Amino acid sequence: MSKIIGILALQGAYQKHVDSLSRLGIESRLIRKTAELDDCDGLIIPGGESTTMSLLINQSGMYEPLQQFSQSKPVMGVCAGMIMMASSVDDERVTPLRILPFKALRNHYGRQVNSFTADIRLNFTDDEEPLHAHFIRAPGVTDLGAGIEELAQYDHSPIMIGMNKHIALSFHPELTADTRIHQYWLSKFS
Ligand code: GLN
Repeated sequence: MSKIIGILALQGAYQKHVDSLSRLGIESRLIRKTAELDDCDGLIIPGGESTTMSLLINQSGMYEPLQQFSQSKPVMGVCAGMIMMASSVDDERVTPLRILPFKALRNHYGRQVNSFTADIRLNFTDDEEPLHAHFIRAPGVTDLGAGIEELAQYDHSPIMIGMNKHIALSFHPELTADTRIHQYWLSKFS
């Protein structure tokens, strides 16, 4: 069955996810209102600025609809999207969606000037090929709740976590032609 993936497009780096999904032959929709979630089988919350994204989610009345969506459909959060998926954030200007049990630490891997790339090993595949990960003012994670899986680490700390059908990443997988992260997430759909 063909899937339609929503990409939350209130703010931030949503466009390149369209390209990653189309490379995999997957149709996507940019989501700016609650009703647009109806046709979607899964949702990507992209990178951006979590304080602004949090504000826009509240202003557009999407806070509860997004939480409800996550109760039955898979969500992937990237960078600011990861922060939005947390249960708590070290910045009270962000009201997270509490999709996964962990605490997000904003800008843990440095501010814009400290953006960097690193080759990381993916724990969820036997494929030894490292992934070239782009970190842009990337969040860290701490206080991982029971049942959270560590899917990749950098510097001995988790940078990709997952539970049930959800994944959250500190780095931006849409900035490379490597589609293994999107593919892994899509493989969790029933
Ligand atoms: N530092 C940003 C924030 O706190 C996230 C950066 C990103 O999404 N690339 O929201």
